[in-house]
Formats: sequence, C-alpha cells, structure tokens
Amino acid sequence: MPEPSAPAIPEKLYGVIGHPLTQTLSPLLHNWGFARLGIHAAYLAFPTPPERLEAFIRAVRALPIAGVSITIPHKEAVMPFLDGVSDAAKAASAVNTLVWEDGRLMGHNTDLTGFVAPLLERLESLALKRALVLGAGGAAKAVLAGLEQLGIADVVVANRSLERAEKLAARFNARAVAWEERVDVCADLVVNATPMGMTGKALDESPLPPGYWKPGHVAYDLIYNPRETLFLRQAREANAQTIDGLTMFAAQGAAQFKLWTGRDLPLDEVHELLARTLYT
Ligand code: NAP
Repeated sequence: MPEPSAPAIPEKLYGVIGHPLTQTLSPLLHNWGFARLGIHAAYLAFPTPPERLEAFIRAVRALPIAGVSITIPHKEAVMPFLDGVSDAAKAASAVNTLVWEDGRLMGHNTDLTGFVAPLLERLESLALKRALVLGAGGAAKAVLAGLEQLGIADVVVANRSLERAEKLAARFNARAVAWEERVDVCADLVVNATPMGMTGKALDESPLPPGYWKPGHVAYDLIYNPRETLFLRQAREANAQTIDGLTMFAAQGAAQFKLWTGRDLPLDEVHELLARTLYT
C-alpha cells in the first residue's frame, strides 16, 4: 500500500465572524480558493456575539490571523477597534474585510466592490441615469456608496420606514420617497436591498408589481437564494436585464481573496462552485 502523503500544513489562518453564523458560504469560497491556487492557508467560521467582538479583535492582533471577513451584526461596530478604514468602508460606513497593511489592522468594504463589479461590466452598454434603491439597511448603504462611485447622480431611496430612507438619502445626496410611492419612480436601474423574495416565508414576495418593468430596465437583486427571485423573474419576463445576488456575492468574495493574497480567483469557477452548493 502506498504511504499516505503528508498533508500540507496551513501557514496562514483566515476566518469570518458574525452572529449567528449558520449559513455562511465564505469558508467554502475561500478554502476552495486556497486549494485552487495552491496556497497553504485555512479559513474558519468564528461565531462571535456582539459582547465578544472587542476580545475577538484583540485575538486577531495576538494570533497569526492574516485576514477576517466581517458579517452581520459587526460591520459597523468593528470600526472603532481598527487602525484605519478604506475610503470605500468610510463611504459605506461599514467594514466587511480586515487586512493587515504595514502592521496596521485595516478595514475594507468589498460589498461595495462586489455590488459595483457587474454594473461596471455593463456600464458602456447601459445608459443608467436614475436608480431606485428599495431598502435602507446595511446593504443599501454599500449600494448607495457604489452608485456614487459609478457617478449615477439621480438616486431615489424607498424604504418601509421613511425616516430611515431619509437618513440614508441625506448622506448620499439622494432623494427619499415613501414606500407606497416607489412604483411612481421611473428608474432605469432598480436595486432590491430588502429580504423580499428570499427563500423562506418571503419567497413569494416582490418589492415591485410585475407591471413596473419596461424593456431596457435593469433589475438588480442582492438576494442570492433563490438565484432568480420573483423580482428578477418578473423583470426578465418583461425583457428587462437582470443581475442576481450571487454575482455580487462572488465578486465581493473574490475581492476579499485578492486583498489577502494578491491573487485573482477565476470568477466563472467561483460562480459554478457557489451555484452548485446553493441550488443543487
Ligand atoms: P437589513 O440591514 O436588515 O435591512 C433590511 C431592509 O429591508 C430594511 O430597509 C427593511 O426596512 C427592509 N425590509 C425588511 N423586510 C421588509 C418587508 N417585508 N417589506 C419591505 N421592506 C422590508 O438587511 P441588509 O443587511 O441590508 O440585507 C438586505 C438584503 O441584501 C438581504 O436579502 C441580504 O441577504 C442581501 N445581501 C446580499 C449580499 C450579497 O453579497 N449578495 C450582501 C449583503 C446583503 P425597515 O428599515 O423598514 O425595517
């Protein structure tokens, strides 16, 4: 019988913190990436309740932890414990990635990078003048920062609670409208940043009626489970273009991986891996 070969010992440790941390795809994505590119590293899930956040960051400084993904509910709360944050993280007032830079623990925001990536690819073929953002939570902040980065000046935010929409809109020089008025806003790009349409009890919901869509509109849903939400299906059936949340998730993960390793992941393979895991 052949001698089993010695396993490669990970030289670097990465991980994700959040609370609860039950359905994260990040360990799969990053461990696959390390194996795919022959990098000796490991990525773990570190479930961390809010009261343990500060202690966790102290541990990152003490242990050989080379990078961390940050998810709900820590994206804003982590900022005071860092040595600095990138312009994108400042713009989105949220951090989803920790990276060591010249001995300083820095916060970045690759949700913004991931949101912008599929739009950048299509920017030349699309004439995006007005965007409507549905929702005003954590993800919507990255969306508004991304739209600002893309130079889309006419942005309207609609949210169930108008006060939250107004607060977010004011930060980004956008306009807030009441939730009931969202259907009256004619926008060429509509972003769903609510959980309406997500697998579970909201699966049959859409934040817009099917009659809203016109050919040439772009529907962008941040939800990635299911891959095609009711919002996206109705848009597609009306000959609008669609961008799904998996595309954003894959792009934000690849951007994180690049910050940590300097290496590019093959995005088509990342898509395939995530789609296989989520939808089969
Ligand atoms: P969040 O901070 O909890 O915000 C949720 C937003 O949705 C709030 O504005 C909330 O309105 C609104 N909302 C919730 N239920 C609603 C309903 N039944 N009807 C109308 N509005 C409703 O969540 P988040 O972190 O921003 O996440 C939003 C979505 O983006 C989630 O589906 C998440 O999975 C997805 N996401 C995807 C990615 C990706 O990489 N693809 C990354 C981040 C987030 P109120 O303010 O009135 O409560």
